[in-house]
Amino acid sequence: MIGGIEAGGTKFICGVGTGPDDLETFEFPTTSPEETIERTLDFFRPHSVNRIGIGSFGPVDLNPASATHGFITMTPKLAWRNFDLAGALRRGTGAEVVIDTDVNAAAEGEFRWGAAQGLNTFIYLTIGTGIGGGGMVNGGLMHGLLHPEMGHIRIPHDWGVDPYKGGCPSHGDCLEGLASGPAMEARWGMKAQELPPDHPAWALQANYLALGLANWIFTLSPQKIILGGGVMKQERLFSEIRKRVDELINGYLQAPEIVPPGLGARAGILGSLALAIP
Ligand code: ADP
Ligand code: ZN
Repeated sequence: MIGGIEAGGTKFICGVGTGPDDLETFEFPTTSPEETIERTLDFFRPHSVNRIGIGSFGPVDLNPASATHGFITMTPKLAWRNFDLAGALRRGTGAEVVIDTDVNAAAEGEFRWGAAQGLNTFIYLTIGTGIGGGGMVNGGLMHGLLHPEMGHIRIPHDWGVDPYKGGCPSHGDCLEGLASGPAMEARWGMKAQELPPDHPAWALQANYLALGLANWIFTLSPQKIILGGGVMKQERLFSEIRKRVDELINGYLQAPEIVPPGLGARAGILGSLALAIP
């Protein structure tokens, strides 16, 4: 049995199993690091797992040569800043711990069991409380100096069409600042799930996401783009995004398929588990 932890800023999902057919999960809200780790260890205690994969919120230090590898770094959640997440779980369970970003974990899950099987270059994005992106290039999960923070790219913002100034505490109107779930709520005064289907919010949202996608299509040439997260539960966004991406590319090349996660809402936890499969 292998362990997985989808370590989110609002909730933790812990799982044990070997894959989609036997995964058992338990979830609880993210509170203080001490309490959250204690509940995580309580879950794993009766299971004997010797490897645990973590798909973590971040930014997180993923440099294997760093003294703070596996630490959460710059989060606005102050109690978690500089917290040694991987170390706390390694010490608490005795297991070998593999850590990556939440979106790279989901990408790994999609690669192993979902919509990215057989591919070597693809993107996984979540459009939820924030916007995050990861994936694989030439068969390896994307890392770099730190790791991609794809939600924070700059896209054109037509202030005449959209006077909302953007909600990112660091950048204002970056993509996440304009198109996360909370940005939609702040702009329209209503939660995204309450906006009616014919509301102009959706065309604006599709346009912002398509602008981001076009940039990644031109820079990375992904074979597929997988879009998950709460906001993408609005299924008709997919067709609006595909149409807008085609318009932006304007025949210059063929757009990749843009699809929901093959593993649905379990992409994150299954991917965390997949990280730890040797
Ligand atoms: P997180 O990003 O914290 O892991 P989610 O992916 O569920 O969580 O994203 C939460 C965001 O998604 C919220 O801003 C919420 O308004 C939005 N959301 C949740 N369900 C829907 C829905 N059915 N339609 C549109 N937006 C939704
Ligand atoms: Zn930003």
